[in-house]
Formats: sequence, C-alpha cells, structure tokens
Amino acid sequence: MSLTTPGGDTVADYKMLIGGELCDATSGETFETFEPATGEKIADVPKAGKEDAVRAIEAARKAFDEGPWPKMSGKERADKLRKIVEVIGAHAAELSEIETRDGGGTIRKAQLADVPGAQQSFEWFAKMAEEQPTEVELTGSPLPPSENYLRYEPLGVCSGVIPWNFPLIMASWKIAPALAAGNTSVLKPASFTSLSALLMAQFINEECDLPPGVLNVISGPGGTVGEELASNPLVDKTAFTGSTEVGRRIMQLASATVKPVTLELGGKSANIVLDDADLDVAAAGVLWGTFMHGGQVCESGTRALVQRGIYDEFVSLLADRAGKIQLGNPLDFETDLGPLVSRSQVQTVERYVASGREEVGEPVTGGAKPEGLPAGLDRDCFFQPTIFTDVDNEAKIAQEEIFGPVLCVIPFETDEEAVALANDSIYGLGGGVQSSNLDRAKKVAAAMRTGTVWINDYHLISPERPFGGYKQSGIGRELGTFGYNIYRQVKHVHVNTGEGRDTHFHYQLLSANI
Ligand code: NAP
Ligand code: MG
Repeated sequence: MSLTTPGGDTVADYKMLIGGELCDATSGETFETFEPATGEKIADVPKAGKEDAVRAIEAARKAFDEGPWPKMSGKERADKLRKIVEVIGAHAAELSEIETRDGGGTIRKAQLADVPGAQQSFEWFAKMAEEQPTEVELTGSPLPPSENYLRYEPLGVCSGVIPWNFPLIMASWKIAPALAAGNTSVLKPASFTSLSALLMAQFINEECDLPPGVLNVISGPGGTVGEELASNPLVDKTAFTGSTEVGRRIMQLASATVKPVTLELGGKSANIVLDDADLDVAAAGVLWGTFMHGGQVCESGTRALVQRGIYDEFVSLLADRAGKIQLGNPLDFETDLGPLVSRSQVQTVERYVASGREEVGEPVTGGAKPEGLPAGLDRDCFFQPTIFTDVDNEAKIAQEEIFGPVLCVIPFETDEEAVALANDSIYGLGGGVQSSNLDRAKKVAAAMRTGTVWINDYHLISPERPFGGYKQSGIGRELGTFGYNIYRQVKHVHVNTGEGRDTHFHYQLLSANI
C-alpha cells in the first residue's frame, strides 16, 4: 500500500478502513477533493455506497459481538487509546498539513489546535476508561434483604457523522469516547474534508494494533452513507455534528429503531459586551470569538451585543483591528485567516452579505473577497472579515447561521435587554459576557439559554468539560464525564440475599396461592 505524503504535487492514495483492511469503495467509484487555497484537486477519495456502509457496520458489529474489545479492562483500552495519542503525535506534520490543505483554515490552527486537540480527546477518554467505575454498589434499599449494584456496559456499535470545519477534532470526539467505553465505531467524515480522518485511520490501523472492526472510517455522500449509519438496525447509537437541518433528519432516521442520538448542531451565539468591560481585551475577544477559522465554528460569537455607553468607541476599535487581520497562504505560519472551506461556502457568505447590505446597510469593514493575495491563491475561496453595525436582531444576518467571517453588532441599553436579545434565537450553543464585574457577568451568564458561556474569554473548549447546545443547537453533551457516560448503558442488578419465602412476600401481589 503506498501512501504519498501530502505536500507535493502527487495525488495521495487514500483508502477507507473497514474490518481492519484498507479498501476502496465496492463500486470502485471515487470523488475529487480540492485544496481551497489554490482551487486545485488534491486527491481522489473512495466514494462509499450503501453497501460499504453496511459492510463497515457489520464489521463493527462482529468486532463488538465476537471480538475482545468490549471485554477488555478499562486499563487495557486506555493503553490502546494512549498509543493512538502517540501515533497522532508522530504524524503531526502530515496530519496538520493535510488538514489545512483539504479544509482551509491555517497551518497555525492545525498545528496548535487541531492535532493537539485530537490527541487531548483520546487522552481524556483514556483517563475515563481507566478511572470511571464499571460497577457501583447501591445501598439503602427498603426492599427485602438484597444486594443492588449498577453495571456500566458499552452500548455496542456507535456511528458518527461529522462536519467539515474541524475534521480531526470532530473525528476524535466521536471515536475516542466510543472506543474508551468498549464500543466499536463507524465514522463518516464530511465530503469536503475526508482526508485527515482517512489518514488518521490508516496510521492507527498500521501502528496501534486494534482488533479488526473496532474502528471503521468510510468516506462518501451523507445522503446515502450518513443515512445508513443513522438508520441501520445493527447500530446502537449515532452521534452527529453538523447543521440543524441534517440533525433533524438523523433524529427521524434513528427513531425507527429508537437509537439514542447525540446532536451537536448550528449556532448564532451572542457575545455580550457590558459597559464596564476592559474594552481593549473585549475587542480582541470579540474578534477572536467571531473570526477564528473564518467564522466557520458552530459556537462563534457572531452577534456582538454592545452596551450603548461604550458602543461608538467599541465599534471603531473593532473595525480598526479587524482590518489588521492578515489573509494569505494558509501554509504560511504567519497567516491569520486562510481560505474558507470551498468556493460554494464563499458564495453562501456573499449571499448573506448582500442580504445584510439590503436590510442593514454598508458594513463598516470588509464585505468582499480580498484584494492583493499572494500569487497562486484562489481568491474565490477567501472572504474579508466583515462587520455590520446597528443590526436589528430580527435581521436575517442576525438570525441565521452564516458560517463565515461576518459579525453583527447590536446595541442594547440594559442587562435584561442584552439577555433577551441573546436568547432571541432558535439556537443556544455558546456565548460570551465581557465585563470587569464578575457578579454582574455571572448573573447574565446564568440567564443565557446556551450550553457554554465564556466570561471574559471565548472558544475555549476542552475535553474535560461538557459541550453541547440548548434549543435547536442539539441534544446531549459531548466531552467531560457526561460525554463518556452517554456511550455506556446502565444495568441495575438486584440480588435477593434473604432466605426462604418470607423474603419474597411481594409475590402475593400476584397471588397467595403460588
Ligand atoms: P452538514 O451539511 O449538516 O453535514 C454534516 C455531515 O452530515 C457531513 O458529513 C455530511 O456529509 C452529512 N450529511 C449530509 N446529509 C446527510 C443526511 N441526509 N444524512 C446523514 N448525514 C448527512 O453540515 P456541514 O455543512 O458539514 O457543517 C456545518 C454545520 O455544522 C454548521 O451548521 C455548524 O454549526 C455545524 N457544526 C456544529 C458543531 C457543534 O458542535 N454543534 C460543530 C461543528 C459544526 P457530506 O459532507 O457528504 O454532505
Ligand atoms: Mg477539500
């Protein structure tokens, strides 16, 4: 098997992983994936069909029902997960380069966040496998003399479907907790960005000695492969990260077999700047909270709610500093903002910006594709950081998720009004409060209907803390202890420890004659 290291002109040989074997699609079909920075094709990717999804699910089923993985101790599984951490580290250069070339963003983000972020997920869930009990004794039962205990058991086959914005980290969020808890996994990355997950699976397969079928990664269209992963009766749980629209579909499909689902969906988060905030730090925080990875982050704070007394000063700080964000070659470590994931994503952003111009007015900065990019870059995949001010929260650009570098600045008078505006959204994923008065900030945070609130900060997600959404931003939480236990069943075992019929007095509820 030849794997061409990314970085040259060669088109690499990317394979899927099913049942411990690297393979192509049964049909032999492939699809092309592009490097948004240059607009050039970088690889042909196996295009799985329904039959390949079924093959992967059956391999995972067999590995769960007949293989050693679910029966291994937590410590044994933790050791395997730590080997994965090591292998990702050993291939950090290839993985971060392919993450950037296939999905846009910057090499800085890939090296400092994506690769270490994936490692941290595997490390955290290794710790969970080691430390979380698999049996817990219950005491204090008022019933007949008995011993009662809980057993935590793996669920079985867990499928995962992920979006294109953080392919490696998203893959690790689905694979690591599933494997740590003793499940087997089938993962489908997004079609725009399949390469890093395929490459990681390949490295794991070659270097980690997992039993075959424990990890399966297949690439192909969501409409066929993703739907099979959500609906197949052999799958015990499905975890999805992506748009709210597809999340609804996943939930419908999973309902046929009453499969538990975890959904991490869209957002339109508010970053509230109170009038006592340190404006210098808050302005940097709002820009970081919005424009990191070009706003292609589900919990981006794309609505900045700014209190009237500081509004004008704050807006000019934002506009001035946004203009200093450097767009350029994503493989250059100095670049702040690389390309968005695709030309079609830039076109979506352009449509929203046109709608903003119509409904709100001219943006104070940005609003177009950049001029003066270095030669060889595809301008059609880039977009300037764009800020609309005096936005009405009812405007389309303030209500709908754009998934691009567009910030809406919205004025407010009182803390109550800020909370009402923040909560006036179908979403509830993230949010921020910028203030020098922590009591005040915590009151505002408590009133926000959202899964995460950062006070005087933004975007900090780490595997130790749960992440997920209120309202149409999703169901359930990933990460943390909570994100481990959703990959486990709970079984209650009751042992009658009494002797003779007297300890079974309740049988007479049926009949005294039995
Ligand atoms: P998407 O269109 O919903 O796609 C996500 C994944 O679902 C892709 O792998 C896609 O496959 C697959 N898919 C598409 N249609 C499907 C179907 N009918 N059944 C099963 N799977 C299907 O989302 P995206 O455009 O990739 O990502 C952007 C969205 O993800 C944004 O809304 C963002 O907020 C959300 N997001 C949320 C979080 C979070 O944690 N809450 C994190 C990141 C992103 P194809 O690629 O083959 O179409
Ligand atoms: Mg690509």
